[in-house]
Amino acid sequence: MTYATQPEASHFIDGQYVEDDSGAALPVIYPATGETIANLHAATPALVDRALAAAKRAQPAWAALTGTERGRILRRAADIMRERNRELSELETKDTGKPLQETLVADATSGADALEYFGGLAATLAGEHIQLGEDFIYTRREALGVTVGIGAWNYPTQIACWKAAPALACGNTMVFKPSETTPLSALKVAEILVEAGAPPGVFNVVQGYGEVGAGLVDDDRVAKVSLTGSVPTGRKVYASAASGMKAVTMELGGKSPLVIFDDASLEDAVSAAINANFYSTGQICSNGTRVFVQDGIREAFLDRLAERLKGVAMGDPLDEATNFGPMVSARQREIVEGFISQGVAEGARLVAGGGRPEGEGYWIEPTVFADVTDGMTIAREEIFGPVMSVFGFSTEEEALERANATIYGLSAGVFTRDLARAHRFVGRLQAGSCWINTYNLTPVEAPFGGMKMSGVGRENGQVAIEHWSQLKTVYVAMGEVEAPY
Ligand code: NAD
Repeated sequence: MTYATQPEASHFIDGQYVEDDSGAALPVIYPATGETIANLHAATPALVDRALAAAKRAQPAWAALTGTERGRILRRAADIMRERNRELSELETKDTGKPLQETLVADATSGADALEYFGGLAATLAGEHIQLGEDFIYTRREALGVTVGIGAWNYPTQIACWKAAPALACGNTMVFKPSETTPLSALKVAEILVEAGAPPGVFNVVQGYGEVGAGLVDDDRVAKVSLTGSVPTGRKVYASAASGMKAVTMELGGKSPLVIFDDASLEDAVSAAINANFYSTGQICSNGTRVFVQDGIREAFLDRLAERLKGVAMGDPLDEATNFGPMVSARQREIVEGFISQGVAEGARLVAGGGRPEGEGYWIEPTVFADVTDGMTIAREEIFGPVMSVFGFSTEEEALERANATIYGLSAGVFTRDLARAHRFVGRLQAGSCWINTYNLTPVEAPFGGMKMSGVGRENGQVAIEHWSQLKTVYVAMGEVEAPY
């Protein structure tokens, strides 16, 4: 089976596909060719209202189910997603341009992992009992209510599931707005949840540009907002949520360091640097785009990297032999090309790529700059494309200071065979996720999120429950009530 790229309708509200042609046009473009593969519409304010009303209506009954019952539905949805992994992956490839080789293992599968993990945790949610002599206190872990999820375009299925799974496990309902660039797969997540038994209104999808997201965040019915996006959007969404005293999770951008000491396994370090910069054509928030290589092995690192880059296979993303896809859109490619020109202008040494391959679509070559210095634009700003910057360093202290010299704090990696140094080093890194002798592994069991400007809160892991629920404290008196008069 293959999913049609044109969905039945643009939105999924109260258990059904819904259309309203009066919303702004939202064309969906296959990044590998530039061809339009679907035509959707942004949600009108009336549809946004309808989605929030459905979520509000559905929430009390959803929260009243036992955790086991909610969890069973999430785990059923996980099974369905795994059964349909190929169809879902093909759709994700058409929506994002990411090679099927990647989407088959990293998108619906990681979404299913989240549904399964939080489906399992749902039955374990509990408060505590605190004895105070005869009196006692108990706490109830309660749902927040109606929640909003807003997604970026790089991992559309995963982002929808990383937000929906813990939200629903805790008894919340959700209105999710995918990125306008990649609107297709969240609709499939909604369909599958209903098929698995989620009552209408528990998970709704509305499409739209930034203003639709802003309208959702601003609505009084909403108790929590979880955004995956850029820092500028995060500032706006956080500010708007703050005025309504809403809880937030902010998964934002990064400019993460990958520090390679000269005692590291060179081959593993090169592999990690490739994964940390070129997987998903560099469109990953946690990418290690500042690669610090200790002086003793830097030239060897660059030589081996150049050799390994001969293995890049660009081509039809639906061909499983292709391992490098196009950028998601013409606009994103322009932004990345702007950074590459700036890197050259500011004196970085272009050692690989930098150009546009021939043909249709939004292709760009994997690009490597050497001799990058900390003040250059490409060293400071998030590029969100396949551009690796390689820096030199001599001492551990110097590497640490320079690695932390950024407004961001999403992720970091260190390669060394000296494990005492590795642990000492990550202990002082300012980053939410650190890897020792690997990079960018983000299993659902591991809390994920940023320090500094990279965000607020954590997704995944047991800690996510804290971010999708609230505690109520109940004091129970067993004796008489004393009063002063
Ligand atoms: P973006 O900030 O442009 O958009 C993100 C989402 O926010 C989109 O759905 C967009 O429509 C919506 N939006 C825009 N303005 C809004 C507003 N005023 N109110 C409410 N919603 C609004 O980001 P993008 O270009 O889609 O994604 C790339 C960025 O996302 C990068 O910075 C990347 O690092 C980050 N990202 C972070 C993570 C993470 O988990 N930390 C994961 C993926 C991507």
